[in-house]
Amino acid sequence: MDLDFDRQHLWHPYTSMKEPLPVWPVAGASGVMIELEDGRKLIDGMSSWWAAIHGYNHPAMNRAVTEQLGRMSHVMFGGLTHEPAIELGRLLTGLLPDPLDRVFFCDSGSVSVEVAIKMALQYWQAVGRPKKTRLLTVRSGYHGDTFMAMSVCDPVTGMHSLFSGVVPEQLFAEAPACRFDEPWREEAIAEMRQMLEVHSDAIAAVIIEPIVQGAGGMRFYNPMYLQRLRELCSEHGVLLIFDEIATGFGRTGKLFAMEHAEVTPDIVCLGKALTGGYMTLAATVASSHVADTISVGSPGLFMHGPTFMANPLACAVAVASLKLLLSGDWQSSVQRIERQLAEGLAPCAAMPGVRDVRVLGAIGVVELDQPVDMARIQQAFVARGVWVRPFGRLVYLMPPFIIGDEELAKLTAAVCEVVRKRAEESLL
Ligand SMILES: *Cc1c(COP(=O)(O)O)cnc(C)c1O
Repeated sequence: MDLDFDRQHLWHPYTSMKEPLPVWPVAGASGVMIELEDGRKLIDGMSSWWAAIHGYNHPAMNRAVTEQLGRMSHVMFGGLTHEPAIELGRLLTGLLPDPLDRVFFCDSGSVSVEVAIKMALQYWQAVGRPKKTRLLTVRSGYHGDTFMAMSVCDPVTGMHSLFSGVVPEQLFAEAPACRFDEPWREEAIAEMRQMLEVHSDAIAAVIIEPIVQGAGGMRFYNPMYLQRLRELCSEHGVLLIFDEIATGFGRTGKLFAMEHAEVTPDIVCLGKALTGGYMTLAATVASSHVADTISVGSPGLFMHGPTFMANPLACAVAVASLKLLLSGDWQSSVQRIERQLAEGLAPCAAMPGVRDVRVLGAIGVVELDQPVDMARIQQAFVARGVWVRPFGRLVYLMPPFIIGDEELAKLTAAVCEVVRKRAEESLL
């Protein structure tokens, strides 16, 4: 592979074109293994940004794509419809709690957040409260890279200062301070409560990642927070949006993270694992009340419609991924991974330079005192035959659900070894 061309001409996520970080050329991927061009095989600890829950090159999902390809890869969704979209819509509305049953298919997670926010604004417009346009959220969140999504990301890690005057200014309460495994403390929602009391006339919606704050810090918080938040939003007439893009489809041990708290938002965003990591697809699912209100108010229609909306290939593979998930015993797999992550990462807790070790479902996190040197730590993981990509102070594992005990043991051992080596050499 021409890596020089790649270095000179291709942007990779969050990198410089002058001093790009190293990239490894991939020849193929199958099961939980990523095969490099030189023949080395890496055990995948990332599920390609948390999406490839069934691993790579899965026969059932390959078949779904190939069969759909033989019928049509795409047709416009304006004025036309097709079986893969209907089947996926039926599956999603069947799995989500009752009021959530109006599905908007989008191209990516960020777009599904844009769509959710647009829905919230149009809802208030339709009921004659056009001044309710602001969003309220918590710090340490991540909701995507487009402008409106960026406006509700953590202001510091989301680099709001860089785009000040352009990114809309939203309202931020402190991140949920009560951990998942701690007893609930009411103070943990005090600032959110106060902001809702003061600003509800201006707020369209609260948007939050339920239970797990992902790319904004890998924090796991108490389900009571969401119960209180649901009560507060209803009390103050503010819509509630859950961003389940990272947490949806089993990752936290429940099919959707909102099930830990048994609360239902007005709008939910889905993405990442929706297609089992095969293609880009996301969905914004609204309650019938929100959807109907938008549809009867002026202008009486929802103002969004991407070119590749409900792409049939993506819908077909999403259907196959969901059927695979539901036909297997994913709960036992995630519980097994949870136990093994807890056991395997436990030694890190006592190592110098480690602030915290935490595990929830198929997510294992080692939080360090200092940010990692990305290039060096990545090299150290590849040298140990695993694919782990830390960010900031966080070294984490989110393996595919199909990972075997031995492969997972190698992943956790590699994390322990690299974290220990980093402390010894103060290098990585
Ligand atoms: C990844 C992610 C997004 C953005 O999804 P893209 O497909 O990268 O646009 C939004 N919200 C959450 C919680 C995510 O994890």
